[in-house]
Amino acid sequence: MPKTPEEAVEYVRKNKVEWIDLQFTDVPGRLQHVTIPASDFTEEDIKVGFGKLDGSSIKGFTTIYESDMVLSPVLESLNVLPWSPNVARVLTKVYWGGGRGRFERDPRYIGERAEEHLAEAGYVSYYGPELEFFLFDRVDVDVKTPQSGTGYKITAREAPWNGGGYLIRYKEGYYPAPPVDQLMDVRLEIIQTLTKYFGFHVEAAHHEVATAGQGEIDYRFSTLVDSADKLQTLKYVIRNVASKHNLVATFMPKPMFGDNGTGMHTHFSLWTKDGKKNMMYDPNDEYAEISQFGRYAIGGILSHARALSAIVSPTVNSYRRLIPGFEAPVYIAWSKGNRSAVIRVPSYYKGMEKAKRIEYRAPDPSTNPYLAFAAIAAAAMDGVTKKIDPGNPVDENIYHLTPEKRRELGIRELPRSLDEALDELESDNEFLKPIFNPSILETFIELKREEARTLQMYPHPMEIYYYLDV
Ligand code: GLN
Ligand code: MG
Ligand code: MG
Ligand code: MG
Repeated sequence: MPKTPEEAVEYVRKNKVEWIDLQFTDVPGRLQHVTIPASDFTEEDIKVGFGKLDGSSIKGFTTIYESDMVLSPVLESLNVLPWSPNVARVLTKVYWGGGRGRFERDPRYIGERAEEHLAEAGYVSYYGPELEFFLFDRVDVDVKTPQSGTGYKITAREAPWNGGGYLIRYKEGYYPAPPVDQLMDVRLEIIQTLTKYFGFHVEAAHHEVATAGQGEIDYRFSTLVDSADKLQTLKYVIRNVASKHNLVATFMPKPMFGDNGTGMHTHFSLWTKDGKKNMMYDPNDEYAEISQFGRYAIGGILSHARALSAIVSPTVNSYRRLIPGFEAPVYIAWSKGNRSAVIRVPSYYKGMEKAKRIEYRAPDPSTNPYLAFAAIAAAAMDGVTKKIDPGNPVDENIYHLTPEKRRELGIRELPRSLDEALDELESDNEFLKPIFNPSILETFIELKREEARTLQMYPHPMEIYYYLDV
């Protein structure tokens, strides 16, 4: 991967690249792009950035009277696109035009701020997200929405109702080898693209529990911004490879009623800044080799869990996933093996310092990874600074505890809707302030309130079914 402007220009020349795709992420978390000719990708221009961005129509960016922005390439991310080999994409940092400095609502900037904040305190954080997704058949249908046109019909290649072939029985999708698993070829192409072209270290790829076309891909954990960059790249590759196979990849948290949703469990650890000592690890702790420092970090995340939901589970659809019975978290508690708790301390290995981390199970892939990872860091650091006690671990299946028992153990619940989560975020955001500037926070809340309000205006088809004859 190129590091200097000279190396970048050389990379473009050597690979006969004709177009450069400048990419960045909007506030809700979608990857955006603008394409420029490779002949304009000169050493001088790489240094000053590319003034090609009108930020006025990008969610959370700028108003129409103040919209000239500059994109400055992150050269390590320059990559030929295997599906259009004369194009190379590069991730960028967003700046205000006219030399007015860094654009404060660029989500990647918030990620960078989080890394600086941690470094000032003497730490570095690592993130290993487990990205789940569904692959659906792509069929042209007339969608009855205000923008009626070509849409996607929700059926999966493996859905029982597609008939024929080898069927995956309800909730038996996890791990049966092909030919039952019919998405091996697509997943393989995805992970080969990632390793061959994008420098990924893929750790695992597999079918997930949901019956119809759910998968998961995990890559090697990395530092905050790098891991968020990777997550954006991973989603981008999954979408494009799926599209080549005439499939649609979706990261929406709960596309199917009655089957598992799509999560993005995030493995998180804090180390000393030199990367030498894992602060989460204590070989003498009998419960899970988790240190007191690690317990405080858990305490921070648990105490802010309801506000964090607005950032890590940030869509109306997220709250259809966070219900009992589908391995998604509902209760604010921590544990070793218990998958009904929102934080788990995986204990696969004994005595292995580098493997000690916590698994935060609330995030889903509709989140913006830069904001999510930054918010997790902020909550954990708040716990460490204030020595927030996470309480005792809960090893029983919390779904099965009575409400009285839960109350007795002091177990609270995650919010049940996006609006409820946003209420929490509005009243509990002091802990984010060292990292999140007021502008990104206000813009985020405003966008998400609008999203909740818009969807609330639509009568759902199931409401017609329930209420037509009331
Ligand atoms: N899909 C589940 C979720 O929504 C997780 C299942 C798993 O990874 N064991 O979080
Ligand atoms: Mg997994
Ligand atoms: Mg999984
Ligand atoms: Mg997991």
